[in-house]
Amino acid sequence: MSKLNIVLFGPPGAGKGTQSEFLINRYNLVHLSTGDILRAEKDAGTELGLMAQEIMGRGELVSDDIVIGMIRNKIEANNDAKGFIFDGFPRTKAQAEALDGMLNAKSEPITVMLALEVPEEELVKRLLGRGATSGRADDQDEAVVRNRIREYENKTAPLKEYYSAQGKFKAIDGVGGIGEITARLIQAVG
Ligand code: AMP
Repeated sequence: MSKLNIVLFGPPGAGKGTQSEFLINRYNLVHLSTGDILRAEKDAGTELGLMAQEIMGRGELVSDDIVIGMIRNKIEANNDAKGFIFDGFPRTKAQAEALDGMLNAKSEPITVMLALEVPEEELVKRLLGRGATSGRADDQDEAVVRNRIREYENKTAPLKEYYSAQGKFKAIDGVGGIGEITARLIQAVG
C-alpha cells in the first residue's frame, strides 16, 4: 500500500503542531517536527542544540544542511512507518528539493501539502499568547515573532508554488475552532 506523506504547512502560529496531533492518530503517521527536534537538542545541551538556540532566539532559520540531515536520519530510522507528517519542514526550496530526493529514491513521494492560512495579526496574537504559558523564548518577544513571520514570507511561502507545480498544494482556512479545522484537513486528505 502506498504511504501517506503529508507536508503540514503554514506560518508560525498557524496551528501545525496542534493539528499534527490529530492527524498522526487518525492516519497512524510518524510526526517529524524539526522545531521539536531542535528544541530537544537544546534541552540536551548538545553542541548542535546550543548553536541552534542562538539562531532560533533571533527568529531566523537554521541552516539547510543541519535540518536536512536531521530529517534524513529520522526517515531512515522509521522505514516501516505508514507515512510521515512533516511539520515545520521543508522551510526553503533547498529543503523541499532534498526531501523530494529522499522520498522519491524510496518511491514514497509527498502525497499532499496542506497549507494552513491565518492572517498575520491573528498569528502574532496566538504566538504571544502561547509564549505567556509555553516557556518558548521565541514566542515571548514581539520583534522575534514578527521576524519569524518575515522569514516565512520570504523563504518559506514560495514553497506553495513548488508543491502547486506538482499538483499537491491544498489551501486550508486555519481560522476557527480546532475541531473545525481538523475536519477541513481530513476532508482535504480525502
Ligand atoms: P518551529 O517550532 O517549527 O516554529 O521552529 C522553531 C525554530 O526552529 C524556527 O524559528 C527556526 O529557527 C528553527 N527551525 C525549525 N524548523 C526549521 C527548518 N525546517 N529550517 C530552518 N530552521 C528551522
